Amino acid sequence: MKQETKCIQAGYTPKNGESRMIPIVQSTTFKYDSSEDMGKLFDLEASGYFYTRLQNPTNDFVAAKIAALEGGTAAMLTSSGQAASFFSVFNLAGAGDHVIASTAIYGGTFNLFNVTMRKMGIDFTFVDPDCSDEELEAAFKPNTKAVFGETIANPALIVLDIERFAKAAHAHGVPLIIDNTFATPIGCRPIEWGADIVTHSTTKYMDGHDATVGGAIIDGGKFDWMAHADKFPGLCTPDESYHGITYAEKFGKEGAYITKATAQLMRDLGAIPSPMNCYILNLGLESLAVRMERHISNAQKVAEYLEASDKIEWVNYPGLPGNKYYERAQKYLPNGSCGVISFGVKGGRKAAEEFMGHLKVAMIATHVADAHTCVLHPASSTHRQLTDEELIACGVAPDLVRFSVGIENVEDIIADIEQALKAI
Ligand SMILES: *Cc1c(COP(=O)(O)O)cnc(C)c1O
Repeated sequence: MKQETKCIQAGYTPKNGESRMIPIVQSTTFKYDSSEDMGKLFDLEASGYFYTRLQNPTNDFVAAKIAALEGGTAAMLTSSGQAASFFSVFNLAGAGDHVIASTAIYGGTFNLFNVTMRKMGIDFTFVDPDCSDEELEAAFKPNTKAVFGETIANPALIVLDIERFAKAAHAHGVPLIIDNTFATPIGCRPIEWGADIVTHSTTKYMDGHDATVGGAIIDGGKFDWMAHADKFPGLCTPDESYHGITYAEKFGKEGAYITKATAQLMRDLGAIPSPMNCYILNLGLESLAVRMERHISNAQKVAEYLEASDKIEWVNYPGLPGNKYYERAQKYLPNGSCGVISFGVKGGRKAAEEFMGHLKVAMIATHVADAHTCVLHPASSTHRQLTDEELIACGVAPDLVRFSVGIENVEDIIADIEQALKAI
């Protein structure tokens, strides 16, 4: 199936007489005829459901659709993108371990790694995504367990050279984790470029309607854990908290990572989305391919308008031929990058805030990447916990306006920008 078809059909195939739409199994628990039947589930000897904190059929239908879209072998949904980022790394690294991350990542992820996960004893090295091969090489340590980057960084819009990062990670026997939120699998499938694990904040384009917060983790099923067993004892030695199961032996390359994340992390940390939210996410996924087309064509026109305006200091959009990441975007995102543009208004931070105050179609919201056009000043909102140096390090200028182009008529969006620029 092609991506457009998977958006509609993948993950759930009703049998004779069953509901056409995925059922919402709004139940915490599941009934069994005998304790023995249930025991097999707890031992992971049989597959099935017993408690929605770990797994639920509605969630799994939607996870299977996302796995198909990304070309992965297994996936799990989480209650937020933050939980997905956390689980994706914590499933591999614990106290005393080390992880390499690109500096060009979402501010929330940067804080999760740099502050909260450091408190758990995990060490991080942040590397410029455009650093030299030597610098990237120098970041690896004997206790490095993963490399983490973002396809198109939110909000810096830096496009990562996924192949280069994958090669470096694999040369050191560790997987590459890619946050593919902004690109979506319609724009880029990181697994095809060598990524091993893909994460999403489904809150953005996947849901696409400002309706549900959520996340997803997809396993490409290619990383050979057993070949690096010394690095990944959590996957390659018996889990005493799960009846002595060795995930990589029992579930193989295709299933070990997600099974461990479910059996250990979801069990203990409980960041499961509700079945109702997964149902809503699925509605968004059904139109993802057609929405992305419109987001990208609208954003291209808005970016070209801004570039031509004498009231705009600078415009950053990977779809503009003069952009630093234009060539790389052509390679990794041949159908267009995303609907998000960043720019600076002449007059700096103050002019940016004034401009935003005059917008009527574009609404100020701590959100991005959905059907409604919205606008944000990251330095005074989402990224306000970062210092100016940290802001610049993750590609967020203090005057940066993040403009998320929705799927309204583009003429209305441009007219709105035009009147707001006139008013300042
Ligand atoms: C929003 C976002 C996150 C965090 O997701 P939540 O659903 O808000 O928890 C992670 N990564 C990227 C790229 C994001 O845009």
